[in-house]
Amino acid sequence: MTNADVAALFDRLADLLEYDGENAFRVRAYRAAARTIADQIESLGAIRADDTRSLTDLEGIGRDLAAKIGTILDTGRLPLLDELSGKVPADVFDLLRIPGLGPKKVRQLVDGLGIDSLDSLEEACRGGRVRGVKGFGEKTEAAILKNLAFVRGTAVQRQLWEDADQVVAEVLAWMRGCPAVERIEAAGSWRRGCETVGDIDLVAVATDAVAVMEHFRRWDHTTDVIASGVTKSSIRGPRGMQIDLRVVVSAAFGAAWLYFTGSKEHNIRVRSRAREHGWSLNEYGFQPVDPPAAAQPPTAETEAEVYHALGLAWIPPELREGRDELALAAEVRLPRLVEEQDIRGDLHMHTTDTDGEDTLTDMVRGARERGLEYIAITDHSQRVSMAHGLDETRLLRQWDRIDRLNETLAAEGPAPIVVLKGIEVDMLERGGLDLHDHVLARADWVVASLHYGQSQPRERITERILEAIRHPAVRVIGHPTGRLINRRPAYDVDMEAVIAAAALAGTFLEINAHPSRLDLDDHHAAAARRAGVRMVISTDAHSVRGLGVMRCGVLQARRAGLTSVDVVNALGWNDFRNLLGPRST
Ligand SMILES: [Zn+2]
Ligand SMILES: [Zn+2]
Repeated sequence: MTNADVAALFDRLADLLEYDGENAFRVRAYRAAARTIADQIESLGAIRADDTRSLTDLEGIGRDLAAKIGTILDTGRLPLLDELSGKVPADVFDLLRIPGLGPKKVRQLVDGLGIDSLDSLEEACRGGRVRGVKGFGEKTEAAILKNLAFVRGTAVQRQLWEDADQVVAEVLAWMRGCPAVERIEAAGSWRRGCETVGDIDLVAVATDAVAVMEHFRRWDHTTDVIASGVTKSSIRGPRGMQIDLRVVVSAAFGAAWLYFTGSKEHNIRVRSRAREHGWSLNEYGFQPVDPPAAAQPPTAETEAEVYHALGLAWIPPELREGRDELALAAEVRLPRLVEEQDIRGDLHMHTTDTDGEDTLTDMVRGARERGLEYIAITDHSQRVSMAHGLDETRLLRQWDRIDRLNETLAAEGPAPIVVLKGIEVDMLERGGLDLHDHVLARADWVVASLHYGQSQPRERITERILEAIRHPAVRVIGHPTGRLINRRPAYDVDMEAVIAAAALAGTFLEINAHPSRLDLDDHHAAAARRAGVRMVISTDAHSVRGLGVMRCGVLQARRAGLTSVDVVNALGWNDFRNLLGPRST
């Protein structure tokens, strides 16, 4: 059970209690607990396992809640929730998922109109009956209709890119084992490197389509065959993900791969450009718009052929979002996107000195095996007490160990790795940083992050971050918006002001590569680039394994159109060392 799982159970309990008419105070207590738990960096299991601490140390967690958490951790269940769930009709859970429609309102609809399903709610809205219920109006009715579509569209939650990537790798490996497959590739939002992926799309060329489809359905991980045809089949695979497979003719592979990669907006623009050239374009290739056309339609065996026929350079999938990529491709001005092999250093990671799983030496060895030239060790500062954050004494002791480690490494000869003495220092709720300036001034590398007080008003949060940006010791702002994909929205912050201040101070902004952070996102990173801010792609690894998420951060940077010049840790060690020299501001 992750903290997020436990938090979700308490949230659901709060929903059901509220639906049941329980007193507001009790409902609020469960909601507050859910928030505290979700915000916790360290796992509840680890806190409970530590004899020197107790779950009741957490804000808003008393004895009763601590006992319930214990039960959840041991059994994966919350008996009170099971009991309540049994009393509430199953369809109510569907209704509770509609954004903006809390438990109290759902109850009103159930009691007042006899609503018992998403369908009956839709009917009631269309019939104008919902506006007759006290507290509901025409506007609410319209909002419910819109949100109904949202709930139906997200019946299966979109997966984080990295999780989807695992499924893609497995299904491709299986399909490539089929002798009838000549070529098979994955497309869709996975290929565009999107933060989350809904369905997985596969496009194949085959000598025998029937055999390929049969092989597909026979996959070990197929839990359900949704559709089965000769050119298209759909299955449900790992993580409940739908996987669609199309078999196309080799002559149209490029058109099909492009078509199923999307995005929709990109495809619309490509098709309209094809029409300007006198062709219609779909997954089967080019056709003349007005037959009989004089010229033979262009070939579409590769994506490059399709783009070239339209006077465009091949566009990397990460840029195919229907923004300015066609204009850039037409003028041959597409950026040379940063690649994972450009990355030479990793400047945000944790060790067992705080909440990491691996020791300092393990992390250094792991980074070295990945071929990195330099890393920064950036454990938490003391404010992050649940993660055993470092105070001045412990930090200086760690830095001594790093000094000795660097000497040993240098003595080992060729291609040593340089370990920088860093810290992830907290921006305090009241303003200011969590360590004295004279300590921070001695660091090689300071990441400043905001972990607490995330619900403060916009001006307050923005001010805290601006203060850190202007601090002379701070090099980079860690995970600048604090969002956790599928779990927690960003805190309210004026990113325009943050980017402007970072540009002015020469402070970098992080693209945190953790698959559930990817923070900055592509829009913010693109805006930062336009403003002349350089970025650092960091893994924020809490284990040697965690160093592997760099590729996710690189994908996000590519989606923002970043080149290696925009990425500080694409510098080799010598250039990076020069950059570390005293700043001009
Ligand atoms: Zn952090
Ligand atoms: Zn961190």
